[in-house]
Amino acid sequence: MSGHEMPFIQEAFEGEWVVPLGPNVTGFEEDLARFLATEKKVVALSSGTAALHLGLLGLGVKEGDEVMVQSMTFSASVNPVRYVGAIPVMVDSEPFSWNMDPELLDYAISDRIKQTGRKPKAIVVVCLYGMPVDYTQVIEVARKWDIPVLEDAAEAFGSSYDGKKCGTFGDYGVLSFNGNKMITTSGGGALVCPDENTARKTMYYATQARLGYAYYQHEEIGYNYRMSNISAGIGRGQMMVAEEYIAHHRHRQAYYREHLRNIEGIELHENPSSKYDSNFWLCTVLIDENLRVKGEENAYSAAITSTVGGAGGVTGKGVSIHTDCEPNRNVEAIRLGLAEQGIESRPLWKPMHRQPVFSCFPSYQNGVAEDLFHRGLCLPSGPYVSDKDADRVINAITSLII
Ligand SMILES: *Cc1c(COP(=O)(O)O)cnc(C)c1O
Repeated sequence: MSGHEMPFIQEAFEGEWVVPLGPNVTGFEEDLARFLATEKKVVALSSGTAALHLGLLGLGVKEGDEVMVQSMTFSASVNPVRYVGAIPVMVDSEPFSWNMDPELLDYAISDRIKQTGRKPKAIVVVCLYGMPVDYTQVIEVARKWDIPVLEDAAEAFGSSYDGKKCGTFGDYGVLSFNGNKMITTSGGGALVCPDENTARKTMYYATQARLGYAYYQHEEIGYNYRMSNISAGIGRGQMMVAEEYIAHHRHRQAYYREHLRNIEGIELHENPSSKYDSNFWLCTVLIDENLRVKGEENAYSAAITSTVGGAGGVTGKGVSIHTDCEPNRNVEAIRLGLAEQGIESRPLWKPMHRQPVFSCFPSYQNGVAEDLFHRGLCLPSGPYVSDKDADRVINAITSLII
């Protein structure tokens, strides 16, 4: 917390606005629209996942429809496709932005039409770790097939592409203010809607699809997805430091890049061209399998022994179970080596087409997502990770390389 949040919360308490609507909600929505520099309408919701769900409803996605989704993402991009009973079709990434490969998307759409005789209903693209999608090409493919785009910019608050903010490119755009995101409302999200009408419809679905009678009249299924006025107060305070946080994350990535530059086999993610301006929400590195790292020979035997008795994906020790798709031994050795020095790091998102819960759905692969998962590690990158902290991380990594 920045210290700017309390006055807004205080005001909400004093005005008895302790409900999922009120001046902070409206104020936060205005702040967001101004920040995004958009004419579109922003609706504050209880989470980014709720925003994805309502975005799909807004696009008319129904049971049995197919939805093209980026495979390299967090599960929340795909779960809502199942909430509406639609079928996710996973599409792999291109190696520069790490986001949806436009050529593969184009091929996948034509193949879906060939196989099912029907056009997919929507395309869900994700700005992974804050890096914008190759919008020029993805939007071109979407236009060619006349399929709407739902843009998951949950991790890309403040990122831009060609001078325009992420979250404003798709027919609908999703933002998240979960505790771990660029700015937070403790839990929360927003849907960037194309116009006033669709925003009103979104609010209607977010408030139990209640119609405007004196009594409670419902003709459709609704949801309880509106943002609380207290959460929105936190958001308004966070907006006062948003630019500072974003600059800090960008500095963090540049600093890691500068200081890890000389290690051959460690690669920092970079903006693919001057069109891209990532917020570098998480600082990510790719670690070559051929690099020699202390403890690599033990990395997986350690992982296996410590998971004995752990039935699910993760044990009490936080070591993932040995599966057929996993980070390479160097990633695991560096992760464990850092953990030994009290530094938390994590592998990248595991691709959705390799998740047991989604592996039964169609997917179009080129190997990029699996390669990224194989080589990737997220380094400490929050707003309070100082240069001194980063030095500790850099020294720890350097000491692990043989
Ligand atoms: C965090 C996140 C979401 C979901 O946002 P919540 O506010 O946590 O529901 C969706 N997509 C991606 C890519 C995310 O990282």
